[in-house]
Amino acid sequence: MNTTPITSLKKSACAYCGVGCGVLIETDGSRIVGVRGDAEHPANFGRLCTKGATLNLVAEQAESRALYPELRSQRGDSRQRASWDGALDHAAERFAAIIREHGPDAVGFYISGQLLTEDYYVFNKLVKGLIGTNNVDTNSRLCMSSAVTGYKATLGADAPPACYDDIAATDCLFIAGSNTAYAHPIVYRRIEDARKANPNLKVIVVDPRRTDTTREADLHLPILPGTDVALFNAMLYVMLWEGLLDQDYIAAHTSGFDELRATVREYSPETVAAVCGVPAADIVTAARWFGQSPATLSLYCQGLNQSSHGTDKNTALINLHLATGHIGRPGAGPFSLTGQPNAMGGREVGGMANLLSAHRDLANPAHRDEIARLWGIASVPATPGKTAVEMFEAAARGEIKALWIACTNPAQSLPNQTLVRAALQQAEFVVVQEVNAYTETAEYADLLLPAAAWGEKEGTVTNSERRITHVQAAISAPGECRPDWEIAVDFAHRLGARLGKSGATLFPYVNAEAVFNEHRESTRGRDLDITGLSYALLDTCGPQQWPYPEGAQSGTVRLYENGIFPTADGRARFANTRYLPTAETTDARYPLHLNTGRLRDQWHGMSRTGMVARLYSHVESPVLSMHADDMARRGLKPGDLARIKSRRGELLVPVEASDDMRIGQAFMPMHWGSRYISGLGVNALTMDQFDAVSKQPELKHAAIQVEKAPLPWHMAVMRRDHAVARMLRIQPLLARFDYASCGLYGRQNPVLVLRIAHAVPLPADLLAEIDRLLDMRDETSIMRYDDPKRGVAKRVLVENGCVAGVRLTGEIAARDWLKEMMAEGVQIAPLRSWVLAPLATPPSGSGSRGRIVCNCLNVSDTQIAAAVSQGADLPALQATLKCGTECGSCVPEIKRMIAMGKREAA
Ligand code: SF4
Repeated sequence: MNTTPITSLKKSACAYCGVGCGVLIETDGSRIVGVRGDAEHPANFGRLCTKGATLNLVAEQAESRALYPELRSQRGDSRQRASWDGALDHAAERFAAIIREHGPDAVGFYISGQLLTEDYYVFNKLVKGLIGTNNVDTNSRLCMSSAVTGYKATLGADAPPACYDDIAATDCLFIAGSNTAYAHPIVYRRIEDARKANPNLKVIVVDPRRTDTTREADLHLPILPGTDVALFNAMLYVMLWEGLLDQDYIAAHTSGFDELRATVREYSPETVAAVCGVPAADIVTAARWFGQSPATLSLYCQGLNQSSHGTDKNTALINLHLATGHIGRPGAGPFSLTGQPNAMGGREVGGMANLLSAHRDLANPAHRDEIARLWGIASVPATPGKTAVEMFEAAARGEIKALWIACTNPAQSLPNQTLVRAALQQAEFVVVQEVNAYTETAEYADLLLPAAAWGEKEGTVTNSERRITHVQAAISAPGECRPDWEIAVDFAHRLGARLGKSGATLFPYVNAEAVFNEHRESTRGRDLDITGLSYALLDTCGPQQWPYPEGAQSGTVRLYENGIFPTADGRARFANTRYLPTAETTDARYPLHLNTGRLRDQWHGMSRTGMVARLYSHVESPVLSMHADDMARRGLKPGDLARIKSRRGELLVPVEASDDMRIGQAFMPMHWGSRYISGLGVNALTMDQFDAVSKQPELKHAAIQVEKAPLPWHMAVMRRDHAVARMLRIQPLLARFDYASCGLYGRQNPVLVLRIAHAVPLPADLLAEIDRLLDMRDETSIMRYDDPKRGVAKRVLVENGCVAGVRLTGEIAARDWLKEMMAEGVQIAPLRSWVLAPLATPPSGSGSRGRIVCNCLNVSDTQIAAAVSQGADLPALQATLKCGTECGSCVPEIKRMIAMGKREAA
């Protein structure tokens, strides 16, 4: 229990997902010592999920921080500490030289939906206003750009029309391409509440995979990958046929319906059933529930967006809302859930290659003129910038010579990692502006700039329901870390001086609020007008939804209530969508569909969550989930290592059998990159083909082959104390093993856990290197057992009478129970007989607790299963084990275990 006195409490928002939960940061004056949900924040009313509730554990993490600028004088050398002046002057020199010689399009900026709106605004102005290129894009391109193009194509503006309160007000919830229970847990808590309050609420979930979200649905449509448009068109077909459309709404508020009606005639449920792989009757049911409901709300996310036809998937779904009039009313509307905490803010300031501030379009000359006037520059360049994938392709070709990467990790998160790594290698100068000095991308940095982290800087963020929160700095940034906007402004001043432009005039900001005020002015008269907002108002009245124009008394809860849309004629436009298959098809060589997605307790590329031991306890390391029949066909058993190949790369991971998958499909989580496993992570396999309009790549689908990868030599290493620091030291070695994964285990004093499999025994020098990096060389403190005939060896490091380190080779079955005992500080005495004998089994009375299901209360699956076998239901489990009583993120899984227990008992 934390007994540190709390001396201040600052309001902020969670740094993880687009739900945008309000957080109260507790500090002791200099350190963040705790977090709690902000009971006054309208996004979460005090609730946090497992990730949000452990934000303080990330903030406590000092070992991984970048603390001062580091500069590499030439490739191949290591980076050396530099002063800020020296670092930014050097960067300005390099950028200015490249711009003078090759033009402004020879540089690119790749930024992030994790930045605050003020950071984003400054970067956008730096690139488009000072440098004169539109080569600025963001990792939101991987996440939300199809939602943007979908909204704009149909409703006329990039604005989610609904709000979280609509979940409680709806009669039919249509969830497509979203495992809300895992990806947006606090939204899912609202869904659970709505179901309790309204037993008639219908929930339909469209997802190729069975998930904790689909299990709670009244109807699950497990469509084949990429067939969403066919499904939505077929639902419209049924609604047309059965007279479920709102003809008055169509006539009064929309255009383009006749063309769409002609198209959907080809999409009968019977025809589409074969395309989507779901029964025609289920398509009819979904259409009826959607159309007949007094109010239908759609929630959707990456399953629609991360597709080579992502725009069509979005517009086909919005078509259903326009055709039924389920929009602009309580409980109704197409509501895109944003992935990142401030993807919305980035969209608002136009921080992407094809956008301009305040939802203006780069392609629109009038919009370019408006921004040039606002910024006081002659013009904004008209040439579209390179989007995320295009930017790295251009760098790989040598066209983009300098890359500035802020607050994101493209060497983990972009598809087709082979190409991305080649681009980072090829670029002449790579700047990485980061909190964490040990990301995959930071390894490529010629200049590493230390950025202030969550809780250390001020600004605003916007969540999925258009709600802006003022986040406050709770503590000072450590070392020489600076806020992202401030770094960009300092660089702009220095670069401007070298390019003969006045950076100081363009970037006069003295604080984040000055940046916000300029951004606010850019929205005047636009659909997202926030001229009525200020930091002071956000502090006094709390987070507000845009638009909030000058003179308004409150924000706007719901858009388009009057049926007038921000289009030239005020009408929403139906999109004439047609189904097209995924960009890559399966064939005899690559017969399986690979789907990727998020886990409950990890976030993005683990640059934050990877430092928190308890966030590994739900899922320790990545596995490929497959249908049991597909595994049997390949001679695979659960836990076997498999080699997964796509047309772009390959990866070794263990496999598991899962009845969540249909035959022919496989799933792997997106989080683990090359700092946590050998190989380049799942994005070694994924495709960089993208949607023609949104330029969002098809991360949700790749064709793969899977084969058994028998690696006969196994090793497990566990090391207690300073686990994060030791993990950071060992990570660069992972690439030297055929298979390796590293992670953490435990809570108070975590254990580093390293698992290795290799084709041949590791050479002695590599074993010695591992021992050296993990401080396991003191022979006087090591107990050993060797059985050369069986190839089994044990090394146990004893410190102060406790087991501090273990290295097992040959036989590693003891790994699970040992790591748990080590995390609890087990003495050597009860383990002495195990160490000195050929036994793999634990001493009597001990054994693995299994996987932790309830992370808040540290309750494992074995505990829950034991209670369920005695007949415990959810209330009984909550009363006895307390699981699911804190953040609630584990409740769907507990319900699943109870249902399974009942089935087994029956
Ligand atoms: Fe953070 Fe969880 Fe809320 Fe998302 S749902 S903002 S991760 S606490």
